[in-house]
Amino acid sequence: MSFPSSLLTYVFFFDLVNKDFCEVDRIFCFQTFYNVIINELTSTAETRHGINPSTEEALPPVPLSTQEDVDKAVAAAQAAYPAWRDLTYDERAKYILRYADAIEANLAGIQDILMKEAGKPVQNATQELGFALMHLRQTAGLRLPEDVVEDSEERTATVRYVPIGVGVGIVPWNYPALLGLGKLDAAVLTGNTYIWKPSPYAPYTALKLGELAAKIFPPGVVQVLSGDESLGPLFTAHPSIGKISFTGSSATGKKVMAACAKTLKRVTLELGGNDASIVCDDVDVKQVVQKIGPFSFLHAGQICMEIKRLYVHEKIYDEFLAAMVEVVKTFKVGGAGDAEAFLGPVQNSMQYEKVQDMFSEISKQNWKVALGGDVCSTGKEKGYFFPPTIIDNPPENSRIVVEEPFGPIMPVLKWKDEEDVIRRANNTDMGLGASVWSSDVERAKKIATRLEAGSVWVNSHFELSPSVPFGGHKWSGIGMDWGIVGMKGWCNTQSMWVRKKF
Ligand code: NAD
Repeated sequence: MSFPSSLLTYVFFFDLVNKDFCEVDRIFCFQTFYNVIINELTSTAETRHGINPSTEEALPPVPLSTQEDVDKAVAAAQAAYPAWRDLTYDERAKYILRYADAIEANLAGIQDILMKEAGKPVQNATQELGFALMHLRQTAGLRLPEDVVEDSEERTATVRYVPIGVGVGIVPWNYPALLGLGKLDAAVLTGNTYIWKPSPYAPYTALKLGELAAKIFPPGVVQVLSGDESLGPLFTAHPSIGKISFTGSSATGKKVMAACAKTLKRVTLELGGNDASIVCDDVDVKQVVQKIGPFSFLHAGQICMEIKRLYVHEKIYDEFLAAMVEVVKTFKVGGAGDAEAFLGPVQNSMQYEKVQDMFSEISKQNWKVALGGDVCSTGKEKGYFFPPTIIDNPPENSRIVVEEPFGPIMPVLKWKDEEDVIRRANNTDMGLGASVWSSDVERAKKIATRLEAGSVWVNSHFELSPSVPFGGHKWSGIGMDWGIVGMKGWCNTQSMWVRKKF
């Protein structure tokens, strides 16, 4: 199966693994994992470990951070902040670029742990790290200009964007590298210090990336702490933290916001999605399914911004569904070690149970299955695998339409009337992404502008750039990461008034 061109653009970074980077720092051991506090690798009295979702084998121990570790890291971040803030943008950008080079020099080892902990087949891990490197490099080139609102003989009024102080990135398990680095670069470029809290399900890549950061950034500027589910609340409650940038589920996002309210922390929330995709009757079915297939099942459906409700015009519905099944059934299911695999496992046992529960609805609700459906059909004895599954036109109020499954199971639904399909697409608390497919681009744009989502695409889905903001409406989030908008999220706005004469 081939990837859409928008995804292939990231893949070339993988070739750079073989470049000679003798001048940059290297990590030699990918078997031991430490917290990174004040640029020191520290252990904790108790440890925990993750599970390789492809094999269900235990991964190495990782720290189980306590309040004491959090306090130490926050104090170090506070101490490092003034000097870091006072550097110029260009000076801070140099650190980020050097960090990107160091990651690239260690890419093979980092990719290996990412594949193991996240259950990513090689092409998927390559894309994530390639995009993360591009993110660091592009973001390092962005600047937040001051806006001069008034400049008269008497005075000037300028709007400036100043860093907040100590920021924390709380990250989920589906993109453990990209989502942490995509917060780190904007945070430190704008002059904040940054603490990275990875998911307990996928802390390994983040801890190694922290170890590399310790070789490059001044002490206290970038730190990484792993722990269990009690660690996040220690950060949201901490009075000396100014900003929490959170990516995860809407349910946890609401808790984060409530906790941050107590100390009036700034928050950015990147939350769940239930993206609708509307296919009009004038599309070239064969071409479009080649794109919609991967956009629906990439990373086994565990992407926030993935097609999760596919509305196909009734005139082409049967032809489309048949073509979609033909494409999706070529997607090989396999573990991190399977070079041919397109779909890896679901990342953890908690998510496996949630997705299994959704699969169990098939027989309970008598949903018509166009492809897959039988959990045992992957033939795997170990690992959290599911077959890619397409449900044929289930009722609009069924769980598979209303909920975000976050696994490789999706509904295809029929539509007839344009107003009605727009209403159905918007009839959700979620508002992350949405797309429209049509040969008539102007018609598709008109529909797209009426969709309630943070990103809307015409003849695409899940198209991203480090310079373009990314975030959700409604329960899919507050604020946005990435690009200039994302950088402003790491700043307080400051109005500066200057009287030219007394
Ligand atoms: P989750 O909400 O369970 O956990 C996310 C992070 O929050 C983890 O690091 C977790 O340890 C931490 N956490 C848990 N409880 C906390 C609390 N009370 N206070 C502070 N931190 C806490 O999400 P998940 O299961 O890891 O990820 C899957 C979800 O993330 C899906 O809903 C998916 O759509 C969403 N997601 C959104 C985006 C986006 O950019 N919008 C990107 C990826 C994933």
